[in-house]
Amino acid sequence: MNDLQLDDFKTDENAAMVLLVDDQAMIGEAVRRGLSHEENIDFHFCADPHQAIAQAMRIKPTVILQDLVMPGLDGLSLVREYRNHPATKDIPIIVLSTKEDPLIKSAAFAAGANDYLVKLPDNIELVARIRYHSRSYMTLLQRDAAYRALRVSQQQLLDTNLVLQRLMNSDGLTGLSNRRHFDEYLELEWRRSVRDQTQLSLLMIDVDYFKSYNDNFGHLEGDEALRKVALAIRDASSRPSDLPARYGGEEFALVLPNTSPGGARLVAEKLRQTVAALKIPHIAPAEGSSLTISIGLSTITPEHGSDCRQLILAADKGLYQAKHNGRNQVGIS
Ligand code: GH3
Ligand code: MG
Ligand code: MG
Repeated sequence: MNDLQLDDFKTDENAAMVLLVDDQAMIGEAVRRGLSHEENIDFHFCADPHQAIAQAMRIKPTVILQDLVMPGLDGLSLVREYRNHPATKDIPIIVLSTKEDPLIKSAAFAAGANDYLVKLPDNIELVARIRYHSRSYMTLLQRDAAYRALRVSQQQLLDTNLVLQRLMNSDGLTGLSNRRHFDEYLELEWRRSVRDQTQLSLLMIDVDYFKSYNDNFGHLEGDEALRKVALAIRDASSRPSDLPARYGGEEFALVLPNTSPGGARLVAEKLRQTVAALKIPHIAPAEGSSLTISIGLSTITPEHGSDCRQLILAADKGLYQAKHNGRNQVGIS
């Protein structure tokens, strides 16, 4: 019954679908007659116990009336089969026995029956029990459906939050982390480096002569160039803990936790070359040039009580040197 949805049960929770499994057609007829005047009770009869599960899967009963003594198949085994089958495991089963016998009764309940009646039961009692078990089954299904719906909407909420979080952390133009996320991340990694006494490296990256690029090719082309540079920076960050970010305007940053000056220098030099190799045409510093970047680099093993702005300032100093010494190079401070 797992595929049934909450909506299926909203309409009429008093409705019952009865499946009687009994080899005697006479019993089938008697029960059918007894229920025929009852509103909202649908009745199905199955004379072949081997077909019981298949028929139950088809008609989806809310109550099964189960005969105990049938040729070829023991009613108690069938009760156990219902309980082991995912489609019937929760359907209430009323066992119909030929006699009031404590041993049979206890065996029936042990097998998983919910109720026990002696054939042929008084009609008022039979209807009352059918309605009672059917309603409790409906309630169970409704509750399960509600839980499922709740789980789905909880998952959707988690997914949405994840998307929001990603949007909140990323830069619209380049898809890299934005300044807000960079600040948070650097602070976090700074504190981790203080704790573990590890080296934290930072690259500050600035596009060379970008004002004149914009002036010459227009802002849209400028945006496109920034996207290409951003992609190169993303590719340069190989470890999961590396964080490429757009620091602002045409400035980018790359946080490299647990990275030595030598390692950071390698990353920076490779990135500088990658951008130059893109051969994005530029008119500065001279006609026929390609777009380049300058990079400032610093590595610090931070002390207790220190501030991560120290690392930004140092990397900025390296960037200033790189610009000052002619651009398209890595400055180390
Ligand atoms: P330098 O080599 O010294 O770095 O010179 P520069 O021209 O690159 O530096 P400057 O700071 O004078 O100019 C940066 C330019 O970057 C100015 C601004 O128009 C441009 N810019 C900043 N953000 C964006 C952006 O999102 N899109 C575009 N197209 N241009 C941007
Ligand atoms: Mg700049
Ligand atoms: Mg610049």
